[in-house]
Amino acid sequence: MTRYAVIGDPVSHSKSPLIHSLFAEQTGEEIEYEKIRVTEPELAAFVRDFFAAGGGGLNVTLPHKEAVYSMADHASERARLAKAANTLWVDRNQSLQADNTDGAGLVRDLKHNLGVVLQDRSVLILGAGGSARGVLPAIITEKPAAVTVLNRTQSRAQKIQQEYNSVYPLETGLLDISPAAGFDIIINATSSSIAGELPPLQPAIIGPDCSCYDLMYSDQPTPFMLWAGNNGAERVVDGLGMLVEQAAESFLIWRGVRPDTQSVIAALR
Ligand code: NDP
Repeated sequence: MTRYAVIGDPVSHSKSPLIHSLFAEQTGEEIEYEKIRVTEPELAAFVRDFFAAGGGGLNVTLPHKEAVYSMADHASERARLAKAANTLWVDRNQSLQADNTDGAGLVRDLKHNLGVVLQDRSVLILGAGGSARGVLPAIITEKPAAVTVLNRTQSRAQKIQQEYNSVYPLETGLLDISPAAGFDIIINATSSSIAGELPPLQPAIIGPDCSCYDLMYSDQPTPFMLWAGNNGAERVVDGLGMLVEQAAESFLIWRGVRPDTQSVIAALR
């Protein structure tokens, strides 16, 4: 049995162990997958020891995605653009490899599972943390008409804007802007839903026929999902589909097999 885990702080809410055990059952791969709370001071030693002891791979969730990217010996192009990683493994020389499957997971859920097209649409991303960074490269690849990043701490959004200068012209600002026109697609990549909080948002951000997507998933609608529904969003979705899709991308990297995601999404719903 090869050992895998998701690490983060907090991590108790994670459904990743269940998802990966369903993937393993489906594909016949022999893996064990746990969730482990790892605090910031413990992070570097934990990752080193996990792989030194023969661990097969780690998924990384908040707040460590940017920190593990910096620790890696080699990162994929999409992880380099994001400067954040959610998937780690070591090659045969024990060199630490990092990739970011969040963007591929989100876009696959939007396009294939939900039929939401990003091309030529205006996209708003709320948050500028590891997950916002992770989903941006894949969103930009879909050729949206415009992408805006709003964050509680504006400097963090501006930093992303500067990093993307030569790649894509991002707009940035604080969360409570009143835009001239509403957006077509709004992605909540803040961690506010975990604390049961709602970012300070103006209803004017919701455009006609707007799809609102919370990266957070839970059995109950999140505060952002309730707010979006009450303020005229056409479609309101949680991040369960993305969670399963990004997990499938990680499983493919680690095991060389892409599991079927539809049956797993259905089982979790
Ligand atoms: P980070 O800790 O890296 O970043 C958190 C972000 O949320 C920052 O932009 C922070 O703003 C903002 N924020 C935190 N609290 C509030 C608040 N009360 N009001 C407004 N903004 C707030 O976290 P991640 O980016 O890694 O994760 C974000 C969310 O995405 C989590 O809920 C996570 O579970 C979810 N997620 C879901 C995935 C899925 O597959 N469905 C995959 C990845 C993530 P500031 O910069 O000002 O601190």
